[in-house]
Amino acid sequence: MEYNVAQILKEGMGYIREYDVEEYIDDIRHISEGCGQKLRVAGRARLLRTDRGIWLSATLEAQVPDICSRCLIYINNTIDIGIEEEFKPVIDIETASPLDNDDVPNEGFLIDQNNILSIEDAIRQYLDLNSPMKPICDTSCKGICLTCGINLNENACCCDAEMRDPRWGDLERLTAEWEDRGR
Ligand SMILES: [Zn+2]
Ligand SMILES: [Zn+2]
Repeated sequence: MEYNVAQILKEGMGYIREYDVEEYIDDIRHISEGCGQKLRVAGRARLLRTDRGIWLSATLEAQVPDICSRCLIYINNTIDIGIEEEFKPVIDIETASPLDNDDVPNEGFLIDQNNILSIEDAIRQYLDLNSPMKPICDTSCKGICLTCGINLNENACCCDAEMRDPRWGDLERLTAEWEDRGR
């Protein structure tokens, strides 16, 4: 996940190098913490020499362990990440003198003094942005019964007839009132 880009920085604007990416990074959300599992990230990265630095374009797919928000089973989410970011060097490649990157303080990504461009932070940022708030195992997941806790994908239970979603309570009261008025 780290590239020595000294050679690319010495090339002219528009110079391109492409790489296959297959890396394992630590689980950011600690879903699989303890089993030592890492997130697999794979795809393709392209580094383009710009006037100020290097433009990273990456099309990646991450396998992220997660928990279904409906039925609470472990799932393996596939998250697509498309990264477009410019990395700026902290030193001048020819003179080794420090470069002023203060035009965008605390923003953007940097190539360190050893000419190493690391894409891991960018991957983490994009993973955060692209991760679903409520991951599900399947769009047809029936979830768990709120009364008896059974996984409704695996079993039916007898609570269904009795159970009402509490969110409908107000609507039912309102409907009853209208019906009363109608009489
Ligand atoms: Zn589910
Ligand atoms: Zn039930």
